[in-house]
Amino acid sequence: MAFHSEEVVSRLLEQGHEAYWVGGCVRDELMGRPVHDMDITTSALPEAVESVFERTVPTGIKHGTVTVLCGSYAYEVTTYRVEGAYENHRRPSEVEFVSDLKEDLKRRDFTFNAMARSIDGTIVDPYQGMADLKNGVVRCVGNARTRFQEDALRMVRCIRFASVFGFSIAYRTWKGLVEERTNIQYVAMERFRVELEKLMEGRRPSRGLYLLYRSGLLSDAKIPFTYEPDIDLVPILDEIPSEEAIIRWAFLLRACGLNAEEAHRVLRHWTFANSTRKQIADILSVGEETAAFNTTGKNSSCKEYWISIVLKYGREAAERWLLMIDFIGLNASAAYPVELISDFKAWTKEMGIYRLSELAISGKDLLEVSGLKGGPWVSEIMSKLLVMVASQALPNNREQLIDEVKRVISSNE
Ligand code: ATP
Ligand code: MG
Repeated sequence: MAFHSEEVVSRLLEQGHEAYWVGGCVRDELMGRPVHDMDITTSALPEAVESVFERTVPTGIKHGTVTVLCGSYAYEVTTYRVEGAYENHRRPSEVEFVSDLKEDLKRRDFTFNAMARSIDGTIVDPYQGMADLKNGVVRCVGNARTRFQEDALRMVRCIRFASVFGFSIAYRTWKGLVEERTNIQYVAMERFRVELEKLMEGRRPSRGLYLLYRSGLLSDAKIPFTYEPDIDLVPILDEIPSEEAIIRWAFLLRACGLNAEEAHRVLRHWTFANSTRKQIADILSVGEETAAFNTTGKNSSCKEYWISIVLKYGREAAERWLLMIDFIGLNASAAYPVELISDFKAWTKEMGIYRLSELAISGKDLLEVSGLKGGPWVSEIMSKLLVMVASQALPNNREQLIDEVKRVISSNE
């Protein structure tokens, strides 16, 4: 446990309060996984927490959460609580503070998320979360059906944990999930998407997608496309490294038959950030434009065309597409001029520059050299220069570029 969070716990203890690490951090530590948020639970009321520490932020004071700042670290300290009445299968806005740690653990979703760790290392585990961790089982705390009725997002979390950890789902938990599946429609898309993203960044996204499909959650969540678990898709998705989740998404949407434009729409529906949406859709665009190649043409025109695609979508999207093609394998990517893939890779590297800002001259230089008034011609010439430099017809050298500009202008006069 990071030193600073120990200080937070021990200061609360010194003031006569109870304090424990709780939830995901206890679980991840026991599993030997990297721990990110060190969440702390305490018997102290929020005002008392604020009075113990110099620097605090009332992040979710209504829900009992105070963020304690410790150097450059921030810890969420939450008062033991139970949740008020659930409405519309979502987490309630009202909570009630309680004095018993076990009451707080009881409101948590799964047994392995309902453990607390004291400063001396004792694990408080009233729901046998340790045993479930050891056996690799996702199990609801209490009656699964009731828990999924209370907050329908838990169904997606259940599948996310099963897929990311490679765990099985306890029989009653799975049964409860299938019985309550239609309530998924009440879950806000943002919360759903956060879980989907975590699932896709995990070890076996194909399993998570399969479970979502099998449970019926995918269709009940009004996902705007059809996902059919495809035998070819399954191993490939998991082989793409998890750090390349962007490529996993592109691969998945492509495998579901979506083009770049449709993928954009689906990702918007799922409330993905604009930049993520663009990154994913651009990979598909590179593929679509490449598929439009006339492979019978000469190799040199292929190179020009490829370079124009790389300049249009950027090096990153181009290289991600190439990586995706590597994972799909040559046979499956027959729509593309496969014999050119290694050329594409080499050409991409050779380009050396990939955007206007990397060109050794600017639009302003162009105006100075020519003495002409600005206009659309500036960006036209700049784009031409970029293509020439990227295809190594010209070096990225200021003097030589200026000479070229002069030549073009005088030949147009
Ligand atoms: P991650 O590793 O993705 O952060 P996590 O389990 O820590 O997983 P958080 O959203 O950070 O997930 O939640 C922290 C803790 O709060 C959980 O471990 C669990 O005890 C509790 N919790 C979170 N979401 C729910 C929920 N929907 N219903 C009940 N308890 C929940
Ligand atoms: Mg967490």
